[in-house]
Amino acid sequence: MSIILVPIGKIDPGEMRMLQGSLKTVFSRNVAMGKEIPLPATAWNAGRSQYDAEMVLESLSFSGEIAGCDRALGVTDADLYLPGMNFVFGIAGRRNALISLHRLRQPFYNLPEDTGVFRRRAVVEAVHELGHTFGLAHCEDSRCVMCFSNTIAETDRKGPAFCATCRPRVFAGEAEWW
Ligand SMILES: [Zn+2]
Ligand SMILES: [Zn+2]
Repeated sequence: MSIILVPIGKIDPGEMRMLQGSLKTVFSRNVAMGKEIPLPATAWNAGRSQYDAEMVLESLSFSGEIAGCDRALGVTDADLYLPGMNFVFGIAGRRNALISLHRLRQPFYNLPEDTGVFRRRAVVEAVHELGHTFGLAHCEDSRCVMCFSNTIAETDRKGPAFCATCRPRVFAGEAEWW
């Protein structure tokens, strides 16, 4: 069982390594680093100035980068949306997931840059979306990483840890899927 991280579009390599280290610890699995793949031009919605999250996720699943890995997480700086939603921090499919760093930085909210806050958010969103690929649904516990978040305040309220109910399922889920 291994996870691969794939930058979609330009991403600071230091932040990718930070995610790689954190995810390795949280999931106790090997986390590989894939090569950058481009943002699919067809996913760009000029009217919204955002990318369609489903289409970006799909481009990840077609990428040769992820062959041989059980789970893939695409990481992009692009702002993502789903039809009917103003934006999403990330989405997950059955094996692949995607997060956007776009709304995780303090300057997006007109606040001074804070690398610690940004990194914590990136890890929380990455663990959350990968958690879905391990078969976890949303959790009622507002501190649990699997709690749904629709605002940055909700992301900040939870941490990168699974609650006592979700945690064993990250590992038990494997048997279900495979
Ligand atoms: Zn979710
Ligand atoms: Zn939970």
